Formats: sequence, structure tokens, C-alpha cells
Amino acid sequence: MNSKRFNEKGQLIVGENFCCEHWEPDDGALVPMKECWCCKWASFKTDSNDHMSEGVCGYVGNGIDAVQEDGVTVIS
Ligand code: SF4
Repeated sequence: MNSKRFNEKGQLIVGENFCCEHWEPDDGALVPMKECWCCKWASFKTDSNDHMSEGVCGYVGNGIDAVQEDGVTVIS
């Protein structure tokens, strides 16, 4: 089963070392590894700037509306 979790805004929830085919290096990464932590689409900070072990992916193609069209099971 291909299951993904999303936040209340429909953004994909990701772990630091997850990666997908839409990865693009974050400008701030000195040695960008192919994982969400170093991807320009990811955010691992709260509104108060605290670090989280899980983050959200801002890439529209990974959002809930896009993946539901692909038949992915959604867990909220
Ligand atoms: S942050 Fe999103 S686009 Fe970037 S690697 Fe992770 S899942 Fe893919």
C-alpha cells in the first residue's frame, strides 16, 4: 500500500531523510544530500522557528490534491 500523510493545508509530511524525484538543493546547504532536509521545498521549522523532526513539503505536485489523483491512500 502506498500511504502518505498530509497536514491541514494538504501538504505532504516528510521525514528529514526522505527524498523524492522532485528534490532540488536548498541554497543554504553546503553539501546538499538528496534528502528532504537539504531540499528547497521542505520546511522543518515551526512558526516560532523551532526545529521539527518531521517537516512539510511545499512542492505542489506532492500536495494532497495531486496525489489523490494518483490513487494514493491518504492518512491524516
Ligand atoms: S521536500 Fe518534497 S520535493 Fe523535496 S525531496 Fe522532500 S518530498 Fe521531494
